[in-house]
Amino acid sequence: MTDWKDKVENMVYTGRIKVPYLWNVGKTGSRFLVAIRDKKEIWGTRCPGCKRVYVPPVKSCGECFVPTEEWVKVSDKGVLESFTVVHYSHEMQPRKAPLAYGLIKLDGADGAILHLIDDTDFAKLKTGMKVKAVFAEQREGTIADIKHFTPA
Ligand SMILES: [Zn+2]
Repeated sequence: MTDWKDKVENMVYTGRIKVPYLWNVGKTGSRFLVAIRDKKEIWGTRCPGCKRVYVPPVKSCGECFVPTEEWVKVSDKGVLESFTVVHYSHEMQPRKAPLAYGLIKLDGADGAILHLIDDTDFAKLKTGMKVKAVFAEQREGTIADIKHFTPA
C-alpha cells in the first residue's frame, strides 16, 4: 500500500536567521583583550608542566590538565606559519576580497594565532616570513583591536 506522502515532492525553503548573542570570554580572555586594547600588548599563559606558552591564553593546559596561571608577555612580531588568500567577498568575511588569513607564531609563544594579513602584495606572502601586528587606532576590547598583521 502506498502512502500519500510517497507521492509528494519534497520542497525546501531557504531562509536566513540572524541571531545576535553575547559571549563572555571569561577572566583569562578578558585579561588578554584588555592588554591589547589598553597597552597594545599581547600576553599568553605558560603551562607549569610542559612550559608551552598559549596565545591566545588558556586557563588550563589541554595536554597536562593543569592550570596555566603564569602570564607571559609575547612579542607583537612573529613568523607567518601558513596563509590563504580569499578571492571572493562574502558578508561573513571581515573585509572585502581579496583578503588574506595567516597563522602567526608570535615570538615567545607556542602554536599560532589566526588573523588577517594586510598592507602588502598578497603574491609576495611566504611561509616563514616575519610579520608584525598593526593595532587599530580605536580599540574596543576585541581581537579586531589587532587590525591585522603585515610584513615586518
Ligand atoms: Zn602543559
